[in-house]
Amino acid sequence: MDRVSLKNIESLCPLCLEEVKAQLFLEDGQVTITKTCLEHGSFSDVVDPDGNLYLRTISKRQKRHNPYGLVLPITTRCNLRCKWCYLPDKNTEFDTEKIKDIIDNCHHRFIVFSGGEPTLRKELPELITYVRERYPHKFTVLLTNGLKLAEKNYVKELKDAGLHYVILSLNGFRQETHQHISNQDLTELKKKALENLKKFNIWTILSVTLVKGLNEEEFVKIYQYGLRNIQFIRQIRLRNVSEVGLYKKDDHIYLSDMLKLVSKATSLSIDEMCHNNLTTNGLFNTGNYFVLDIFKTLKKRYAHSSWGSLKFWSHCVNLVGISNTLRMFFEPFQPKETRLMFRIEIFSWPTASNIDLTECRLFCIDHVTNQGEILPFWEALYKNDKLRLSEERNSNCRIEADEFVSFS
Ligand code: SF4
Ligand SMILES: [Zn+2]
Repeated sequence: MDRVSLKNIESLCPLCLEEVKAQLFLEDGQVTITKTCLEHGSFSDVVDPDGNLYLRTISKRQKRHNPYGLVLPITTRCNLRCKWCYLPDKNTEFDTEKIKDIIDNCHHRFIVFSGGEPTLRKELPELITYVRERYPHKFTVLLTNGLKLAEKNYVKELKDAGLHYVILSLNGFRQETHQHISNQDLTELKKKALENLKKFNIWTILSVTLVKGLNEEEFVKIYQYGLRNIQFIRQIRLRNVSEVGLYKKDDHIYLSDMLKLVSKATSLSIDEMCHNNLTTNGLFNTGNYFVLDIFKTLKKRYAHSSWGSLKFWSHCVNLVGISNTLRMFFEPFQPKETRLMFRIEIFSWPTASNIDLTECRLFCIDHVTNQGEILPFWEALYKNDKLRLSEERNSNCRIEADEFVSFS
C-alpha cells in the first residue's frame, strides 16, 4: 500500500465530538484521516477520494484572514422540516436585544441572518434596518428557504428595510426533488420567490444542496437559469449534505465530486478552475471552500489567443444573451457595486468523521452557536451538535433514573 503522511491536524471524535489530534495521509490516491479518541478508540476515514485534486485546493497559507462574514441564527423555528437540516428545530431563539448586542460587538462586514427560517422572526426587518443605520459600511444578507418571499409585500418590506443580498435555497426545479427533501412540492412557491426577488432587484445567491443520486443533474439547469437571470442572480453556491444536525446518511459527496460536476456544467476544465480558484487570494483561505468567477476565468482563457476579445464576448453572448453582454461591455463606466458578476461557490461540508478542523478554522466565515459564541463556521455547527448530544444523553439518564425510581 502506498501511504504518505501529509500533516498533523486537529479533528473531532465522530462519537463524542471532542477535539482530537489527527493525521492526514495520501493513501492509494485518496486523502485519508486517522485519529484516536481516548474514550472511543481509533477511527479512519476518507477526506477526499481524489487526493491530488483535493490537495490542489488546500490553502498554502496557514494563517487566517480577518473573518468577514458572520452567520447569525435569529430563530431555530422553521416552516419546513428538511431531512438534512443542520439546525434542528428547538423552538428557542435569542431575544432581540441579544441579537443587537452580537451585531454591535462583531467586526464582520457581512451579517447573514439565518435560522431555522429567519423570515419567521417578526423583528427581521427591524434587525436589517438596525445594521443599515448603525453600520452603513456593512452588508445584510438573508439566508432563507424562500417560502415567505413568495409574498410580494414581504419582499418589498425587506427591500425597504435595506436588505442587500438573499441566499435562497434552491435544490432543483423538479417536484420530486422538493418532495424528497422537504416532503412537499415547493416549486410554485420558489418560482414566486424568484419573481419577487427579480422584481425588487435584490441580489440573489442560489444555494444548491446536493444529495447523491437525487439532484446532481439539476445543477446544470440551475446554472443556466442563473446565467439567464444575471441581472439579479450573482452567484450559485453548491454544497453537499453532511452528517450535522438531523441528517444521518453516509452517501457523502466530496469536494472533488463537486468540482467535477461544476466542470461538466460550465465546460471549464479542472485545470482552469484550479488556476482561478479565488480562495487562493488569501481571503477565503480554506480547502473546504472553492470560489470561481465565471467571467474572469473565461477572460483568462481567451487572453492570449488571437481574436481573444472577440471570442470572449461571443462566449458571453452564448451564456447570458446579447443585452446582458452589452451591459457587461459598458460596465467599466458603471459604479463597481452595480456591475454584473457570476460566481460559483463550492462549499464542501465535512463530516465529524473526516473533518480537518485545522483547515476549517482558516475559513473566514464565522457562525454564532446556540449559546451565543462566535466560532469559525464548522466548529460552531459541531459545537451545537455536541451540546445536543450531551442534552440527549442527560435526558436519557433522567428517564432511566425516573424509571428506576418508579420501579423501586
Ligand atoms: S434546512 Fe433550512 S429550511 Fe430546511 S428545515 Fe432546516 S432550517 Fe428549515
Ligand atoms: Zn470520543
